[in-house]
Amino acid sequence: MLNLVLFGPPGAGKGTQSQKLIEKYGLIHLSTGDLLRGEISQGTELGLEAKKLMDEGLLVPDAVVIGMISNKLDANKTAKGFIFDGFPRTVAQAEALDELLKSKQSAISGMIALQVNDTELEHRLLLRGKDSGRPDDANPEIIRKRVKEYNDKTAPVAGFYKDQHKFTSINGMGSIDEIFAAIDHVIASY
Ligand code: ADP
Repeated sequence: MLNLVLFGPPGAGKGTQSQKLIEKYGLIHLSTGDLLRGEISQGTELGLEAKKLMDEGLLVPDAVVIGMISNKLDANKTAKGFIFDGFPRTVAQAEALDELLKSKQSAISGMIALQVNDTELEHRLLLRGKDSGRPDDANPEIIRKRVKEYNDKTAPVAGFYKDQHKFTSINGMGSIDEIFAAIDHVIASY
């Protein structure tokens, strides 16, 4: 199986690159952000709880997202592999993912991190907020809170995969096709 973790701060381009990876490799895309927004639009209890935190730019509890990922892994038993986008976002989530995959005799192939500077990130998110309708993209203060959550809780996840020799960082500031070529090059080395 090819199991990729796409990593990078909000606005780094994980969703865009995921679409291209799905087309090329036939992987299943698991975005916890998309799954949570799905719960919100269906008006589930989980969605209502998550929305409060998401609108504030804060992370939702580990148990919630781990449960969602576990369900999706069970529902896609014959998949060629998965792209994890926006997950794991804490070291506890990364540990849980390793356990989940181990129980399926599988493992993470590697983490690929997209590097984009803060000014460019804020610019991209405000631009996206204009037509995405995402409340967490429209407000500079909330964007800064998300970046702080990322630096405090999510950045350490890179260390988790570095320790396993599964971490590669690439420049996320070129054209979409250039960045995809760089990702592809990393995948070819697995
Ligand atoms: P981004 O574009 O910022 O990467 P996402 O669409 O991945 O955003 O996630 C939006 C929001 O959903 C996050 O700010 C957070 O509140 C919540 N969320 C998504 N994934 C997770 C996760 N793995 N753990 C905790 N919260 C999450």
